[in-house]
Amino acid sequence: MRKKLVILGSTGSIGTQALDVVQAFPDYFQLQGISCFSNIDLLIQQVHRFKPLFISVATEEQRLQVKSSVDYSPDIFVGDSGLIQLATIDLDLLLVAIVGTAALLPVVSAIKQSRHIAIANKEVLVAAGAMIMDMVKQYGAKLIPVDSEHSALFQCLATVDFNYDNVKTLTLTASGGPFWDRDPNSFDSITPVDALKHPNWDMGAKITIDSATMMNKGLEVIEAFHLFGMSFDNIEVVIHPKSIVHSFIETIDGAIFAHLGRPDMRYPIQYALTYPQRFETPWEQAKLTELSGLEFFEPNHDVFPLLKMAYECGRQGGAAPIILNAANEAVVDLFLKERISFTDIPIYIQQMLDHFSTESIASIDDVIALDRAVKSYNQTLTN
Ligand code: NAD
Ligand code: MG
Repeated sequence: MRKKLVILGSTGSIGTQALDVVQAFPDYFQLQGISCFSNIDLLIQQVHRFKPLFISVATEEQRLQVKSSVDYSPDIFVGDSGLIQLATIDLDLLLVAIVGTAALLPVVSAIKQSRHIAIANKEVLVAAGAMIMDMVKQYGAKLIPVDSEHSALFQCLATVDFNYDNVKTLTLTASGGPFWDRDPNSFDSITPVDALKHPNWDMGAKITIDSATMMNKGLEVIEAFHLFGMSFDNIEVVIHPKSIVHSFIETIDGAIFAHLGRPDMRYPIQYALTYPQRFETPWEQAKLTELSGLEFFEPNHDVFPLLKMAYECGRQGGAAPIILNAANEAVVDLFLKERISFTDIPIYIQQMLDHFSTESIASIDDVIALDRAVKSYNQTLTN
């Protein structure tokens, strides 16, 4: 029996690389479902290539476009409810490769069906991690990390049988993005084109900007806190510009277990999709002789204030990480549209944290309401 896989967000950077993995192991995977938001032409190509029985698109117009282009009869779902329908069909593994909190309800619905979920999306864990992890336990679901650092930590933690008593720290490595060693006095002139040039990783636009501001690492610290249940005091970040060491753990007796490899998301995606098995990868593997001169630096919190802000919001819990994440999604969008400057990003996020800090959060509906309120308030700030 092949593993029935559904990919939410198959047209994105993670989604397309996941399809490379699927194509590399055709006897292992059966691609049951895919979804897209705007890139309908690519989705239609994927539909022709893989003939999934279930598809989800954003609009009725897209549904008709897909329907008229296929020579078989897939179920085609539409809109937010369509994503939930796709996430809850009969499947063995759901890969969540949608960006942002749009993935929240599909993830929650899949958890309630006790599914195995390979989770690339970090925004839902930042916004609702505590509730999600409680539900995962309650419903016997399983989350398998895809984010390279968390995949690395997951694999390192296996070396100590996930016995957290033996673990002193988890350390996330950060490339530092394109600006980690740039003169901060010149940050005002950074354009979206500059910020979209990541030195090591080829990723979607939002996460690439997050890497440039180092918010990505802040979100990943909160993601690690929820996935692995370590306290924020025991989660550290180091700058490692070559992105060869993908993260490491230190045990109480002073050993360091690190995960090394090429900066290519197909490895952690493959690991998450074939977990708990390991298959020989078809892609070029890292050679230690080519990896000399690995360097590590402390992050500069004065130049990149969002990393520290994320630690603070993570420690506070409740509304703070929801506001942080929603404000960041909104502000990054404005930066990409050239409506605000690079140096405005932390300023607007701080304003929204100040404005919404007293909201109380008791349910997923509260998370969604606050996420929406922050995103629409942000519009008024910049109009
Ligand atoms: P991307 O922008 O390349 O792709 C996003 C996908 O989500 C697309 O398929 C798009 O159609 C879909 N989508 C976007 N908005 C949507 C909406 N409102 N409703 C439904 N679908 C929507 O993004 P990406 O780089 O592939 O990142 C996806 C997620 O994985 C993000 O949360 C990111 O942080 C995380 N991640 C990405 C990488 C990477 O290398 N790209 C690495 C680690 C983690
Ligand atoms: Mg990462």
